[in-house]
Amino acid sequence: MFGLPSLRIGKLFGIPLEVDASWFFIFFLVASTLTTSYFPSALPDREPVTYVALGFVTALAFFVSLVLHELAHSLVARAGGVRIARVTLFLFGGVSQMEEEPKGPGHEFVVAMAGPLTSVVLAVTFWFSHLWLAAVGAPDFLWVPIEYLALINFTLAIFNLLPGFPLDGGRVLRAIVWGLSGDLLKATKWASRSGQALGTLFIAVAVFGVLNGTFDFIWLAVMGWFLSTLAAGAYQQQLVRSSLAEVPVERIMSSPPVLAPAEISLDEMAHSYVLGGRHKRYPVVQDGRVIGMVDLDRVNEVPRADWPVVTVAEVAARDIGDIVVAPSTPVDAVLARLEPDGPGAVLVVEEGRLAGIVTRSDVIRLVRETAQQRD
Ligand SMILES: [Zn+2]
Repeated sequence: MFGLPSLRIGKLFGIPLEVDASWFFIFFLVASTLTTSYFPSALPDREPVTYVALGFVTALAFFVSLVLHELAHSLVARAGGVRIARVTLFLFGGVSQMEEEPKGPGHEFVVAMAGPLTSVVLAVTFWFSHLWLAAVGAPDFLWVPIEYLALINFTLAIFNLLPGFPLDGGRVLRAIVWGLSGDLLKATKWASRSGQALGTLFIAVAVFGVLNGTFDFIWLAVMGWFLSTLAAGAYQQQLVRSSLAEVPVERIMSSPPVLAPAEISLDEMAHSYVLGGRHKRYPVVQDGRVIGMVDLDRVNEVPRADWPVVTVAEVAARDIGDIVVAPSTPVDAVLARLEPDGPGAVLVVEEGRLAGIVTRSDVIRLVRETAQQRD
């Protein structure tokens, strides 16, 4: 996000949680607003250190709420078979990075609703907790922050339900149009326009504010610009994806594939493949059968001195079951498997015979060609 470094703080339910550098800015902003303005007016005449402590703890609790909101999206997406790369907290809250699109409109709908629903449940829980604490006579510095957490979580739910992609409400809109029309591209187009319209509205409110002498809404302009950009990008991305859905892998595969015999040494392989080759991964064959894939990065991990005695078979990855596809498989269906941290290539097999190999560079070439045709 924004090209800033992000910090991995751990894993929740097996999903990596990262904090973007821009998050620290917003954390500081929330904590300082609570410390210098919200708490001094809600709880007058306390020591400054009380405000600082309450501001810090409450801001932290708010961000835990945000993580729970994102985690709900992620867990519901994963339950439907979508892989989650990570949850990242950044300037405008959180984002669950999914490696593929939800499986259908129904799934997209529940994934999008899971976050705001979680925020509503948190808001209701905090709200009744604060009422209960106040009723039993607990000190006000306990229930005032809890009241704030109820209000902020409710605001978060409502804001996210605004119907502008990529906000949750925009995703709900996309799921509905997708479900009604059966056309994901059309649905994304509408959702994308809704996001751009909402972004423009935010900017208009900010401009209106400035014309009336207040800079209080200026952050809306930044957010509006951000929303519009993401919304427009989402449609472009979907356009590329849809065009990839029409192309079978056999049209872009490298064929005949360059093979690495299982019995040769890494030394021999380095001389015959790496020097002239343009690929990073090669199918490994033994007795005419593909037994695995060899990755040049893996080869480079072996000390150079051992290259003459280590064979290709010894460093090859053997679990290739899920990277074997039929020639007619659409390109968009294999994209997730071409990610750099995944298998990185798929093998196209026709009637038991290896017909070709598809890597990321084959897809990039296709995307470039498609883009040129459109221009
Ligand atoms: Zn959300």
